Amino acid sequence: MSTKNGNPFTNAMRQLDKAAKAMNLEPHFKEVLESPRRIIDVSVPVTMEKKTKKIFRGYRVQYNFSRGPVKGGIRFHPSVNLSEVKALAFWMMIKCAVVGIPYGGAKGGVAVDPKKLSGTELEKLSRRFIQALKPNIGPNEDIPAPDVNTNAAIMGWMADEYSKLAGQYSPAIVTGKPLDFGGSEGREEATGRGGLMVLDAYCKIHKMNPKKTTVVVQGFGNVGYNFSRLAHKAGYKIIAVSEAAGGIFDKRREGMDPDHIQKTKKARWTIDGVYCRGSVCDEKNYKFVTNKQLLELPCDVLVPAAIENQITSANASRIRAKVVLELANGPTSADADEKLNKRGIVIIPDVLANAGGVTVSYFEWLQNLHNEYWPVEQVNEKLAYYMTRAFNGTFEQARLFKTDLRIGAFILALTRITGAMRARGY
Ligand code: NAD
Repeated sequence: MSTKNGNPFTNAMRQLDKAAKAMNLEPHFKEVLESPRRIIDVSVPVTMEKKTKKIFRGYRVQYNFSRGPVKGGIRFHPSVNLSEVKALAFWMMIKCAVVGIPYGGAKGGVAVDPKKLSGTELEKLSRRFIQALKPNIGPNEDIPAPDVNTNAAIMGWMADEYSKLAGQYSPAIVTGKPLDFGGSEGREEATGRGGLMVLDAYCKIHKMNPKKTTVVVQGFGNVGYNFSRLAHKAGYKIIAVSEAAGGIFDKRREGMDPDHIQKTKKARWTIDGVYCRGSVCDEKNYKFVTNKQLLELPCDVLVPAAIENQITSANASRIRAKVVLELANGPTSADADEKLNKRGIVIIPDVLANAGGVTVSYFEWLQNLHNEYWPVEQVNEKLAYYMTRAFNGTFEQARLFKTDLRIGAFILALTRITGAMRARGY
């Protein structure tokens, strides 16, 4: 997922540089934060259906433990590489500090196209990866979660494998699990819901009426779909959505019903119901657009909710949104970020906008540690509290330091992270 606009970790370090300069961060703190605390690089052997052995490459990066155990998702994608995983772990560290939950950052991934595996092979791969990580993860050390191409079913296998290896019921080892195995109400939709809470708060301040606000969404997986569904319910006009295969655009700009689109694509499931073979392009009532065209559609809010580096110096001058709500991690390259800022396009950064997922993961972990089950109303109420506090904190720092929202969020986070490091005697 790297591009000529710089690999994700280079982008992350440019963001760190900018924030460090703006807040006058002591150089020794910056130096520590320029590399992860621990990198785990493993081979994951799987015996395939045809009895051949296949070796997959997997990574887990544990970025910083100052504020607590590390936390972050595991993704299964062919282009997973170490630079990407390092960047994603770094952003997780920043994100947890922005929302003020007691975790450092981590991320993991396996370089694989999971949709080419059988259900049994996928389960074996998930379990084998946990076996490889076992010595370095734990409910008080490193708690994985779902990310691109991983979901509740996979988290269930991972928690089961860890529990077997540990010899005890250990649901707090991963979050995003199925409800019947210690999952939390509200986790599945939490990232999309948190993103909507942030957008609502932004619209309120800027007196934007949701009913007159057009929204374009790239990515229609867990995050993109749930965000679109909830935003549609709240009155926003979803005028285009896309997936890897391409997208659909409502030329009349009246707004589409994401649930209807989801039902159309749900007709074609594969791998024992874990992945859907269909895409939003199965809905034929709208105009087909490529992902490139989708990103350049005129709209009020553009929501990248797929993968990194989608808005780059190659297309930044053609983005026609007023606001970019980053629900994917790292969707805007550092060059593009500067270009959009110069053009007056507001970016609501990933480390704030998509923090709802890890926040409800934190609630899930708390419930597991105390053997509690919270009702969805309690989860959503607490989520609103954390997201509003993070939104206000980010805006406040951006205002105080006369900077953009990304750097505002970084300053908020770095103050908390270095505060913990200082208190621990760094
Ligand atoms: P997912 O696997 O459920 O969905 C990914 C979506 O992106 C799919 O619709 C896929 O078709 C689409 N996609 C993949 N490659 C694409 C491409 N080249 N162009 C356009 N679309 C493409 O994953 P998800 O959990 O929804 O995660 C999406 C993003 O949100 C990722 O950046 C992830 O790191 C981030 N994120 C996820 C969570 C979470 O709770 N799941 C939390 C925070 C951030």
